[in-house]
Amino acid sequence: MKALVYEGPRQMAMRDLPDPQPGPEEVVIQVAYSGICGSELEGYLGHNALRKPPLVMGHEFSGQIVALGAEATRHNPGLAPGQRVTANPLWYCGRCRACLSGLQNLCRQRRLLGAHFPGSYAEFTMAHARMVYPVPDHLSLEHAALAEPLACAVRAAGLAACKSLDKALIIGLGPIGLLILKVLQASGVAEVFASDTEPERRAMGQHFGAQVLDPRSEDVVNHVRARTSGIGVDAVVDAVGITLTRKQCIEAVAPGGRVVFLGLHDEESALPANLFVRKEISLHGTYAYTPSDFEDALRWLAAGRIEMDPWLLKIPLSSGRDAFERLLDKPGSVAKILLSPER
Ligand SMILES: [Zn+2]
Ligand SMILES: [Zn+2]
Repeated sequence: MKALVYEGPRQMAMRDLPDPQPGPEEVVIQVAYSGICGSELEGYLGHNALRKPPLVMGHEFSGQIVALGAEATRHNPGLAPGQRVTANPLWYCGRCRACLSGLQNLCRQRRLLGAHFPGSYAEFTMAHARMVYPVPDHLSLEHAALAEPLACAVRAAGLAACKSLDKALIIGLGPIGLLILKVLQASGVAEVFASDTEPERRAMGQHFGAQVLDPRSEDVVNHVRARTSGIGVDAVVDAVGITLTRKQCIEAVAPGGRVVFLGLHDEESALPANLFVRKEISLHGTYAYTPSDFEDALRWLAAGRIEMDPWLLKIPLSSGRDAFERLLDKPGSVAKILLSPER
């Protein structure tokens, strides 16, 4: 099969690799679409310890089943060749304390497709049968490939715990920030503020109905306070992860409000801790998603509640390297690039 192989910082090339052969519990999937994730951009630059060359990256994908191991349907009855599917790429053991308490995202044995195993930037990829989900007939494979990033957004929005009349702020309108916006709106959150330094990303946020702020020309915290009678918002999600944005969260949230840290940028940040105490803020980290977040994401997509069409760009897998360069060069020009192997 043809695969896009990461071979070192800023090096990627199409190579011929052997077709994957399923183990007893595995499913081989012919890839239709495979999104590019921010973590893979970091990987491509050589900044991610998890992704070592040579590696086939790719973990946000959809496709069709072409082969099943002998035991596959025992783990997931109903799977069949030809079926349109997506898969949860975050493998978990299912037996440890974290897994048994519903926090499979924190399983110490978790393994990610496209990092620990060869991923979906290829004609074929392979997943454990338990991780594979049929795609409903009316859901396109383009949209099904969004289930994984949407699952991250579903988890973050769930931890922000907004009620329908709440006001929220999202800092950072990259793909995950935009998807969080969509989830909050689909959950009925009345007013969502959002900030990003990239004008094109702000334009996307505005198109989707957020009240966007430019952190370069306006004081995000003051604006949010001014528009919430001086109180602040009920919940803030930081999808950037630098010290400045983490501080903004604590300053912009209302007393008793929730702050969710998602972005991973600065390793450490000095924060206004006394303010945090006096406002009785609930602070939550969020990391990836559980199987139930993944299933919810697929349900939101199937219900037609998450629409990203104007900012989905399909690019042939063989031009994958150009796609990575484009996302580094003009991060705001597209919300999500989907790579598609040529047939
Ligand atoms: Zn991802
Ligand atoms: Zn586990």
